[in-house]
Amino acid sequence: MSTKHVLRVENLHANVGELEILRGINLEIKSGEVHALMGPNGSGKSTLSHVLMGKPGYTVTTGTIFLDDLDLLALPTWKRAQAGLFLVSQYPSEVPGVTMESALSAAYVAMERDRFGLSDLMMAESHRIGLPVQMLRRSLNVDFSGGEKKRNEMVQLAVLSPKFAILDEIDSGLDIDALRDVSRRVEAGTNENDLGVLAITHYSRLLRELRPDKVHVLIKGEIVKTGGPELANELELTGYAEFGESEVANKAAVGDPFGFPL
Ligand code: ADP
Ligand code: MG
Repeated sequence: MSTKHVLRVENLHANVGELEILRGINLEIKSGEVHALMGPNGSGKSTLSHVLMGKPGYTVTTGTIFLDDLDLLALPTWKRAQAGLFLVSQYPSEVPGVTMESALSAAYVAMERDRFGLSDLMMAESHRIGLPVQMLRRSLNVDFSGGEKKRNEMVQLAVLSPKFAILDEIDSGLDIDALRDVSRRVEAGTNENDLGVLAITHYSRLLRELRPDKVHVLIKGEIVKTGGPELANELELTGYAEFGESEVANKAAVGDPFGFPL
């Protein structure tokens, strides 16, 4: 039995410039658990993933983020990664000239892990997720299809074996087969490696393979409801209307420049 860990977010408020985007987030994810975060466009889902990871450009005004007893807000992004946090971003960056082999090798060195066997592990994980192994030697994400990008991220996730993974709309741009493979791989991580997951998604279809323990609804930077897996199905039917939100109105309310009031 591996050690249990906990990722705890308390009363988190964060701004972009003067605008408050996150307005008091509370969240507690334990090893092996899957939490889904659902909400309309512009509600702050990606902002939360960025603030958790420490992406520059956001100001945390109040609140805390702890991984066990480690204060993540005091750490730069690379140290959060080293501590066991992994973000599968909505738009993975293209990194010309850097291969997955070199990136993972550098990560292993940074984490003071033994690189013996890394190459075999990468190949085994590529096979497992259905990514041609030649892609490990191509520039990261450059001219990768949507499915290849996400399978590639799954190899990184498997090899780095973080304590917690944040998946930001991992389902966007994936066909049914890729979605099934990716969600099964993450689900397997929760069982085999006790991975804790925050899965941000619009669609309950992701959650058919990746079974959530809890589903949270984020509206205008606040978690307004938390429930079990059935909540995802309800949302698919009813949308966010019961929370007084239409997507367009919500976008306008939080100051999206492209939003407009109905
Ligand atoms: P979601 O992922 O739920 O669609 P986001 O977290 O991307 O929402 O965005 C929430 C709100 O914050 C939106 O109104 C968006 O325009 C705004 N926002 C997020 N990041 C920035 C930024 N870097 N600069 C300006 N506005 C931002
Ligand atoms: Mg987003």
